[in-house]
Amino acid sequence: MRFSRWISQHFLSPGVILILSVTQFALATEADEPPLTSTELDILAWVNQQESGMVSLLETITNINSGSMNKAGIGEISAIFKNELEAIGFATSRLAGSMIDMPHCPGSDLNLDLADHLLATRTGESGKLLLMGHMDTVFPADSPFQEFSITDGVIRGPGVFDMKGGLVIMLYALKALNEIGLLENQHISVLLNSDEEVGSLSSRTYLEEQARLHDYGLVFEGTVNNNQIRQRKGLGQARFVVNGRASHAGAAHQDGRSAIRELAYKIIELENMTDYETGLTVNVGMVSGGEARNMVAPCAEAYVDLRYPLPSQGEAARRQFEAIGRTLFSVPRTSDDINTELWVNLHRPPKIATIESDLLLDRTIAIGGLLGEQIGVTDSGGGTDGSLTQAVGLPTLDSLGLMGSGGHSQREQANLSSFVQATSRAAILIYRLLKE
Ligand SMILES: [Zn+2]
Repeated sequence: MRFSRWISQHFLSPGVILILSVTQFALATEADEPPLTSTELDILAWVNQQESGMVSLLETITNINSGSMNKAGIGEISAIFKNELEAIGFATSRLAGSMIDMPHCPGSDLNLDLADHLLATRTGESGKLLLMGHMDTVFPADSPFQEFSITDGVIRGPGVFDMKGGLVIMLYALKALNEIGLLENQHISVLLNSDEEVGSLSSRTYLEEQARLHDYGLVFEGTVNNNQIRQRKGLGQARFVVNGRASHAGAAHQDGRSAIRELAYKIIELENMTDYETGLTVNVGMVSGGEARNMVAPCAEAYVDLRYPLPSQGEAARRQFEAIGRTLFSVPRTSDDINTELWVNLHRPPKIATIESDLLLDRTIAIGGLLGEQIGVTDSGGGTDGSLTQAVGLPTLDSLGLMGSGGHSQREQANLSSFVQATSRAAILIYRLLKE
């Protein structure tokens, strides 16, 4: 048993997770993988010819805006993948998106109207694989960052790294197997969701449902420095909406109940929950409120991000959010004139390594070795849908997409050279996992 795995089984704590993030790279060892077969060499030869096709598909889907709220754009991308997957024998269906209601101040409508998701399946007698990716990006339709470009081997554009490049890699790995006649009687499902960047609030149930029906999960999120992420923090989000009472700031200040003042106290309490020792962070990322300088603010709201290494910390933080919501800090008495609406969602559990997921990771590193690449291992504070599927028991790898950097910013870019490399690795990995 690997030392790191032994530690994670016996001493799993936030501190140990932090230590592992430092030591894991050195501890990762290569599993024994048999050498490449002639069939696999045929797969690789086909993939080697596909770079221009992959780039062209990535250009097409990058130039279609698919911010999480852009239902039309996400629908266009979904239609492209539906056609491509049906062309290689998958049956497809739409999984209904949904409307997520959150409390909000008048005039700041934050309800999320989420687009449909795409499920594609081939059934067979093989091992059962679930391939996942998200079609949405963080860039809305009115973002200045909209266009694909490529210069000197660097691809730029919204979502090229997170994670439209990964969608192309997933598709071409399947096309490669299909080309060599290797998809017959194989059990593979592809789930492309529309809402990962807002926390998979609509697709979570579908992801968890599919996870229970498969043996392995592969998520094609981008990779930084060719690292695979072994463990991830859990994520939560909360909205605090304080409703106060408006009043004239000069003539009747004493009759007002300032929602901004109350929210300000709550923000300090929330930010004070951050504890780097245990790895828990609370970030009040967005705040708004008030209607005029000379009016006591009738409403104020905050949008809060939570990260936590262990499930129990997430639940404790939720209880603390509720207590902060209930407590009135700004006026000395409880009052019907001021109240707080709270919405909390622990939308991603922590991704905690298991024996099965470590084995999948080791095998992927070993397959990368057969293909001449060096794959590193690290931990991350960021979440993916792989956290949801791993938490319900599906061993999941989640960084199989394009190598790049600058996700969620206009610096987003990806390496052209990693297209063939990542697709080759994905095709061989999928092929070998199906044989089990
Ligand atoms: Zn992503």
